[in-house]
Amino acid sequence: MSEPDTITSLETKTRPWWLRIPLTLQIAIALLLAVSLGIALGGGNPSPENATFIANLAIPAELVLKALRALATPLILVAVLHTFMTTTIPGTAGRRLAVLLLTNTTVAILIGLLVANVLHPGSWGTLAAPTNAEAVASHSLDPWGLFKDAVPDAILKPLVDNNVIQLIVIALSFGIVLRALKSEQIAQGKNAYQPIEDVIAILFEAVIRILNWVIALVPLAVFGIVAKTVAEKGFAPFQSLAAFIIAVLVALALQACYYLTRVQFGSWVNPIRFLMGGSDAFMTAFSTSSSTVTMPITFEVLQTKIGLRESSASLGALVGANFNNDGTALYEAMSALYISQVIGQHLDLGQQLIVVLTSIFASVGAAGIPNAGLVTMTLVFTSVGLPTQYIALLVTVDWFLDRCRTAINVMGDMTVSALLDGKKPRTLDEA
Ligand code: ASP
Repeated sequence: MSEPDTITSLETKTRPWWLRIPLTLQIAIALLLAVSLGIALGGGNPSPENATFIANLAIPAELVLKALRALATPLILVAVLHTFMTTTIPGTAGRRLAVLLLTNTTVAILIGLLVANVLHPGSWGTLAAPTNAEAVASHSLDPWGLFKDAVPDAILKPLVDNNVIQLIVIALSFGIVLRALKSEQIAQGKNAYQPIEDVIAILFEAVIRILNWVIALVPLAVFGIVAKTVAEKGFAPFQSLAAFIIAVLVALALQACYYLTRVQFGSWVNPIRFLMGGSDAFMTAFSTSSSTVTMPITFEVLQTKIGLRESSASLGALVGANFNNDGTALYEAMSALYISQVIGQHLDLGQQLIVVLTSIFASVGAAGIPNAGLVTMTLVFTSVGLPTQYIALLVTVDWFLDRCRTAINVMGDMTVSALLDGKKPRTLDEA
C-alpha cells in the first residue's frame, strides 16, 4: 500500500538524534550488545539466580509483537480503502492486471513452500521455545468452513479477531463501493465523497505513524530476545536461522528467474535489458526496504530505461506497489512453514493451502514500507494455529531479508508492467 505523502520531512527533522541513526545500524549495535550480554549471562549455561532477569529480557519483543498484531488489521483495512479511493484502474486492463497479480503471487508462494519443504531449514538446528507459549490450536483445512467463514458475523469482528480473510472481504466490499460512489459523484459534478477520502487518508497516515513508533522499538526487541536466547541456549538457534536465510534467498532467486522467463516469453522486452534498465529500482528497493519509496524510480526506469508505454508503466508500478508484494507473500509462507518445522508442528497439505490463501491476502494488505511483512505475518501464523511469539526471533533477521524481498516486490511490479505492455514495442508515435 502506498504511504501518504504528508508523513515525511517534518517528522524526520524533529526526531531525536538516536532515531536518526539508520535502523539497520541500530539493529547491528543491538545485536553486538545482546551477544555480549548473553555471553556474560551464561552463554547457554545460565545460573539460576539470573533466571528471572533473563526471562524478562523477552518483554520488549513481546510488546512489539503484540503491537504489530494489534496494528495488522487496521493497517490492512485503511490501506485497501485508501488504494481504492485514490487509484484509477481502467476496466479491461484492470481484469488483466488482477489475473497477472494473482498468478505471480501464487507462484511466489508455491516456490516458497517448495523450497521450505525441500531444504527443510527448520531441521538444521533448534530454536528457543517461546515464552508464555500460546495455546496452539490445530487448524486443518475445511474448504466449506473457510467459505462459510469468509463473511463475518459483524462488520467490526474481523478487526477484533484478526481474521485476515474476513477483513479483506470487508475492505474490498467497502473499497469497491466507495470507489463507485466517488466516480458517480464526480460524473454528477458533486464532491460529497471528499471528506470520507480525507478521513481515510488521515487514518492511514495515523496507523503508519504508530507503526513507525513500534518499528523504532525493534532494535530494543532484538537486543532483548537475542541476549535471552544466547544466555539460555548459546548459539545453536542461530544456525537454524542461517538455514532459513539461505532458504529464503534461494526461493527469492527462483522467483526472479520466473519473472525473467515471463518477461522473455510474454513481452517484447529482453530480460537483460529488463535487468540492466531496472537496476536503479532494485538497488533503491534494497537500500530503502520500501517499495513505496522506490515507486517513482520504478515508474521512471520502466519508461525511460526499459522503454515501456506510460499506461503499462503506471499500472504496474503504481497499482503494483499497492497490491503486488510477491516477495512478501513468499516470505510469509516460508516463515510459517519454517517455524512449524522448528517446533515440530507438522503442517499438512490442507494447512499449507490455508497458508497460501492467507499469505495472498496478507501480502495484498502489506504496506510498501519497511518491516510491513512482519506485521501481516502475525495473521498468517494465527490462521494455522502457529505461536506468534516465534516471530520475535525472525525479527532478528528481518532487517536483511526485508531488503531482499522488497527488491523482488519491485521486480514483480516491473514484470507486470512489461507483460501489460505486450509483445510489440512502443512506436515512435506512442513515445
Ligand atoms: N518492505 C516491503 C516493501 O516495502 C514490505 C515487507 O515488509 O514485506 O515492499
